[in-house]
Amino acid sequence: MNIGILGLGLIGGSLGYDLRSQGYHVLGVSRRESTCQTAIALGSVDEASVDLSLLATAEVIFICTPIALIVPQVEQLIAHLSAATIITDVGSVKAPIVKAISPLWSRFVGGHPMAGTTDSGIEAAQKNLFVDRPYVLTPDATTPKDAIAILEEIVRSLGAKIYYCQPEQHDRAVSWISHLPVMVSASLITACMGETDPEVLKLAQNLASSGFRDTSRVGGGNPELGVMMAQYNRQALLGSLQQYRHNLDEFINLIAQEDWTTLEAKLSSNQQARPLFTE
Ligand code: NAP
Repeated sequence: MNIGILGLGLIGGSLGYDLRSQGYHVLGVSRRESTCQTAIALGSVDEASVDLSLLATAEVIFICTPIALIVPQVEQLIAHLSAATIITDVGSVKAPIVKAISPLWSRFVGGHPMAGTTDSGIEAAQKNLFVDRPYVLTPDATTPKDAIAILEEIVRSLGAKIYYCQPEQHDRAVSWISHLPVMVSASLITACMGETDPEVLKLAQNLASSGFRDTSRVGGGNPELGVMMAQYNRQALLGSLQQYRHNLDEFINLIAQEDWTTLEAKLSSNQQARPLFTE
């Protein structure tokens, strides 16, 4: 089977490696000719081009460009495709993408692999990136069943764990566990930089160890990605941030009132809740 990948970066390039190792013939299209050449040289794709028409013979196409380009790229791509082609995307936000593409292409299934690194571009692509990682698919009642089944088989071949949900449910869930943490972690760094005594600030920077490294990691990452999360998942993220602010106020009040018993009860219930997300 021919599989197309549009956008040969971290996710697209990684998909290429694993799909080829499963015996699929992988056709890659990217913006830059140099990326196409690198993808071929690295073995991530069988063929590559900057021309969308290369994807005309693909039975399934993964759209792996930055979020803002997914819909415009599909709009250009569909002129080259036969009606049987299945299109899926890997964008980190689902509702706006599914809403825009579903009316354009009936055999579209939204998707989001919950895997990645902080690096980007074809050189950052990795083999086995999706093994044992969640992979969300968001078909609706009108999505053809055979298209879902074909895509499911391909995603399963990557070693990923498939979850089905509505696009809006996906966006709310990732706002809690991915987008809110970025904003909380970014606020942490800003707050620390607000220390007014330069000697104390320098000391804090020298003393910062694994705890600060863990809690500041996602907030100190790629700014473009953070802005895209906020822009494309604005409503869900605002809801999560407001709930977070409410919880932060509760902690402030407990500490101000020296209510150590309630504070300990809260921290204990968090200690029990954390493995529900991490294990
Ligand atoms: P990335 O490494 O920056 O790759 C995106 C690639 O898209 C670039 O390498 C670029 O290729 C290509 N591209 C840009 N404009 C294009 C165009 N007009 N036509 C064709 N190709 C174009 O980004 P990524 O991390 O793989 O993210 C890609 C998608 O995956 C995003 O939608 C993101 O939401 C989603 N995602 C990311 C992660 C993560 O952790 N990074 C996880 C899950 C899902 P050139 O080199 O040719 O310019």
